[in-house]
This record gives sequence, structure tokens and C-alpha cells, in this order.
Amino acid sequence: EKIELISFCEQIAQTFRRTGNREINIQSEFKEIYAMIISSKLEQVLVILLDNAMKYSESGIKILINQQGNEVFIGVKDQGVGISPEHLLHVFERFYRVDSSRARKTGGNGLGLSIARSIVESFGGKLEIQSEVGEGTSVTIILSHQILI
Ligand code: ATP
Repeated sequence: EKIELISFCEQIAQTFRRTGNREINIQSEFKEIYAMIISSKLEQVLVILLDNAMKYSESGIKILINQQGNEVFIGVKDQGVGISPEHLLHVFERFYRVDSSRARKTGGNGLGLSIARSIVESFGGKLEIQSEVGEGTSVTIILSHQILI
């Protein structure tokens, strides 16, 4: 269906703010960005990314939504523990978890990111991750086919 991405992200962020009692900022250079997409699938991806951001950071979660030509970028950015380069290579693998004491304390089975990536790829999009230990993590959904200009 046709959805407006900024208000869609705002709605999902709102439920996380309530249940997680956390600040989530939404930033965009645009007022509205429309896409033709199965909203329940996009929601599933955003929930996975926001769940991780909540688990691995104490504060400072942002959703950045921007459009460049026929591409849209939806990034979930945290200022949490981050992921070291050797682990970063594997985080999209099924059942892969970073084996730190912090990771073991929080629940999870290492499926979240691999599911998120397969959903985004089923849209013909891409899911990319950038991270630095001690600085934070940023996971970006890149869509192109679905964007209505
Ligand atoms: P869990 O995250 O509890 O391991 P999960 O099912 O959420 O379970 P994935 O979402 O696939 O697992 O994440 C894989 C691994 O990547 C996690 O174990 C975690 O160590 C790391 N990771 C994912 N997101 C973040 C993040 N925002 N900050 C730091 N580490 C992360």
C-alpha cells in the first residue's frame, strides 16, 4: 500500500517511547516521503532495529529518513556499545551473536538482523550496518523501487 514514511516511523517510534521509556528522535530534511510498500513488513524491520538499539544503548536513538534521487534511506542510529570490525562481518548471519557479557545478559537468538536483511532484500532494497566500539551503531534501510516521487 501507499504509505508516508516519516509519519509511519513516527508511529512506530511512539510505541517504543511508551514501552521503553526512551527518547527516540526522528530527523528528516523532508516533510513527506511516499513509498509503495507492505507496511507490516517494513514495521517488522524497524521493530528489529529499534529493539537492538534499545538493548545495546542507554540513550540517543535516532531515526534518520532521507531521500536522494530515487533512493530512500531509513537509518536507525544509536550511541551504544557498538560492534567491533571482526563481529561486524558476521552480524547478518543467522544465529550469530556477539559474545560479550552484555550480549549474554540481554535476550535474543541472533536472528533479528538476518531476518531484517531478508525482508529488505525481498523488497529489492539493501540493509547496511556501520558501527564503532564505544561510539554506536547505525543500520540503514535503503529502498529504491518503492519510492513515489
Ligand atoms: P541479540 O541482539 O540479543 O543477540 P538478536 O536476535 O537481536 O539477538 P541480531 O539482531 O541478529 O540478534 O543481532 C546480532 C548481534 O549483533 C547481537 O548479538 C549484538 O551483539 C549485535 N548487535 C545488533 N544490533 C546492535 C546494536 N544496535 N548495537 C550493538 N550491537 C548490536
